[in-house]
Amino acid sequence: MARVVGMSRESISTTGDPSDQLRPLDTLAVTGGRPARGPDAPLNSPIVPASSFGAGGTFEYARYDAPTTSALEEVLGAMDGGQATVFASGMAAATAAMDLIPHGSIVVAPTSAYTAVGVRLRELDADGRISLRVVDVDDTPAVRAAVDGAWLLWLESVTNPLLQVADLPACIAAAHDAGALVLVDSTFATPVLQQPLRLGADIVMHAVTKAISGHSDLLQGALITRDAELHERIRSRRIILGAAPSAFDCFLALRGVRTLPLRMRHAQASAQELAQRLAGHPAIRRVRYPGFGSMISIELTGGVPAADSLCRSVRVWMHATSLGGVESLLERRRRWPAESPTVPDDLVRMSVGIEDVEDLWSDLEQALQS
Ligand SMILES: *Cc1c(COP(=O)(O)O)cnc(C)c1O
Repeated sequence: MARVVGMSRESISTTGDPSDQLRPLDTLAVTGGRPARGPDAPLNSPIVPASSFGAGGTFEYARYDAPTTSALEEVLGAMDGGQATVFASGMAAATAAMDLIPHGSIVVAPTSAYTAVGVRLRELDADGRISLRVVDVDDTPAVRAAVDGAWLLWLESVTNPLLQVADLPACIAAAHDAGALVLVDSTFATPVLQQPLRLGADIVMHAVTKAISGHSDLLQGALITRDAELHERIRSRRIILGAAPSAFDCFLALRGVRTLPLRMRHAQASAQELAQRLAGHPAIRRVRYPGFGSMISIELTGGVPAADSLCRSVRVWMHATSLGGVESLLERRRRWPAESPTVPDDLVRMSVGIEDVEDLWSDLEQALQS
């Protein structure tokens, strides 16, 4: 009987070759997480739908580890320069990271972090489990002042949906000087545009749900670190808290990763063009665009009614939450009651996909007119 390849951690190709870790991202995204090469070996890591594995091997039980999960973790780790643990959603990754925080510690976090992240940190603060200090992540002196005595600096850069950019090297250095760990939620940038571990961050977090998987068809999250001990602690949070991903979703995410660099570059080029055109449009009061990435936030001259009308009138863009998929999406963020009140109530967040940029523009023009 032919040996089934791609079934053990050892047989996944790029972990064995340290030089692969240094390859450009475009190559890593394609070569990472593949089964060992050989006659009749499948090119793709197969979906292995099993909760349990024969005793004595490396997987044992799927909450600990599983072949399809491991293949995805290998490519995500390689792209960010660390070891990845994948979870059942971005929030499962976030709450696993929060579970590492010792009782009573000071945590510094963004004024307007991702909605559910902000909600959970405030819950922990209200329960007396942490002491929360919030800062605008693009205000480096404020971050510097806030990290004194902190256990963790939780950064998000680029932030959702205000698109603030943190000076990562400066913030990371300040936190480390104060003895704090640094986690960076890098979902909006993806490893294509930013690799926080290479700038000294201790943990990078991604909502894999978004651009990394890229097709709006699954929920997943990842925590990546280069510290072996921290990696074990993170992994134990998946094992104990239980938010393990499904093999099928790992397969889909891995397929999405193959085109991540291409998708990000295309979406970014379109976003740059659209941000410029929007800035000159009379219906737009303010455009927030950090100069890179696929996300744009706009505020409208006509306020909330104009924002809602824009969302209702698009025909190529879709009115929906989430971001980073091949399809362009927009929504007025404050329609969510839990959204931070620091977000203007007419702010429309736009996730630029990979459609033709002129189609996207003419759709916006017609929708802004109505
Ligand atoms: C979506 C998102 C999350 C949460 O991910 P889910 O998969 O929805 O749980 C966390 N952070 C950021 C920046 C996000 O955009």
